[in-house]
Amino acid sequence: MKTKSLSAQKARALQIIESLSRAIPARKIALHFNNPWQLAVATILSAQCTDERVNQVTPALFRKYKTVSHYAKANLKQFERDIYSTGFYRAKAKNIQACARALLERFNGRVPQKMEELVSLPGIGRKTANVILGNAFGVPGIAVDTHVKRVTCRLGLTCHTDPVKIEYDLNQIIPQSQWTQFSHLIIWHGRLTCRARRPRCSECAVRTWCPSREK
Ligand code: SF4
Repeated sequence: MKTKSLSAQKARALQIIESLSRAIPARKIALHFNNPWQLAVATILSAQCTDERVNQVTPALFRKYKTVSHYAKANLKQFERDIYSTGFYRAKAKNIQACARALLERFNGRVPQKMEELVSLPGIGRKTANVILGNAFGVPGIAVDTHVKRVTCRLGLTCHTDPVKIEYDLNQIIPQSQWTQFSHLIIWHGRLTCRARRPRCSECAVRTWCPSREK
């Protein structure tokens, strides 16, 4: 991006953040958790599943498996049954157990606070790592999920489809201190207004800055 267009994009991004902040009262992560490991488990479970469904499953799960060790030693078949309703339960169970074992072997059972360490764990990609960093440790990060991917493209904040490139584009135009908040705003905006099918452009708080708005 040229300097001028970059500064224009930065100014536009700030206007979008300001408008969405006013329009969307709920700006927190929807997943329920009490510690970084629970957030990692909930985020892995949320793949291809709604946060509401994950929040229905995790209270009993967190009561049953209290520590990282409990997940590492869990009977895999039983654990699969415990998370069955979140879908893709075999892969998720395998990843969560492998992640728990790796945490015990390499990080003394604690969730690390660095991106490169997080993404070295089974089942943790950049999106999940950014969710954990931003919401459990207060380290700013933009988690590029399906909503962020769709909405930022419609808003013309990125022209890429690859999540890593999208994150890099957004990192350049969003102030670092607002990365986590920006993710929440865009995700909620994508759920409530800029939906995948039939976006509600006539009610959209950022339609002024959106090149994709429906007339
Ligand atoms: S104007 Fe429409 S397409 Fe653009 S962000 Fe709003 S809802 Fe989405």
